[in-house]
Amino acid sequence: MDPWERSDPNLPVLAGYVVKRVPGFQARKGYLCPACHGEIPPGAGHVVAWPEAQAGERRHWHRHCWRIACRRGRIA
Ligand SMILES: [Zn+2]
Repeated sequence: MDPWERSDPNLPVLAGYVVKRVPGFQARKGYLCPACHGEIPPGAGHVVAWPEAQAGERRHWHRHCWRIACRRGRIA
């Protein structure tokens, strides 16, 4: 099974969004986290999330930033 597609019961979810875990070995690029505007360096495990209706709007998040957004119940 592709680990990208494996569902993860420990990953917090936000209504209306799809979220997947990105393991470090799959993180070959650096990204900018939309929540804290900090860098996610290559090789760092993180999550990718997008609105269910807009698969083109993928954003890469620090895991802790995503967790905070889920606890808050909204992205921004
Ligand atoms: Zn962040």
